[in-house]
Amino acid sequence: MKPSHIEHIGIAVKSLDETIPFYEKMLGTKCYAIEEVKDQKVKTAFLKVGQTKIELLESTDPEGPIGKFIEKRGEGIHHIAYAVEDIKSHLKEAEESGIKLIDQQPRKGAEGLDIAFLHPKYTFGVLTEFCEDKS
Ligand code: ZN
Repeated sequence: MKPSHIEHIGIAVKSLDETIPFYEKMLGTKCYAIEEVKDQKVKTAFLKVGQTKIELLESTDPEGPIGKFIEKRGEGIHHIAYAVEDIKSHLKEAEESGIKLIDQQPRKGAEGLDIAFLHPKYTFGVLTEFCEDKS
């Protein structure tokens, strides 16, 4: 496994309307995309810091993964996503080294990336995402 860089950091928030202006001011840049990812029950907003993005995640359903996360742990860092080439071989290698996968196969995430999550119990408490930009 050898990610090229941190693609994004996912931050769970209660309200995009409240947090976007804060991050725009703090990072001195405009939010450049807002997108709903229906199967994850989230609305996402993206800002860029260098080549790394900040992905703000607002739940659209209290039963969704972000809704449950906020209820249990409050707002805060939800996951770290590493950019990889050949996501399938990274998943295979992770599994072979004993890491439990949440996604056996990559699926489509925000911005059309292929994404897959590793189980946080096997990554020292950090929900970890691999993503590959095939565009
Ligand atoms: Zn992500």
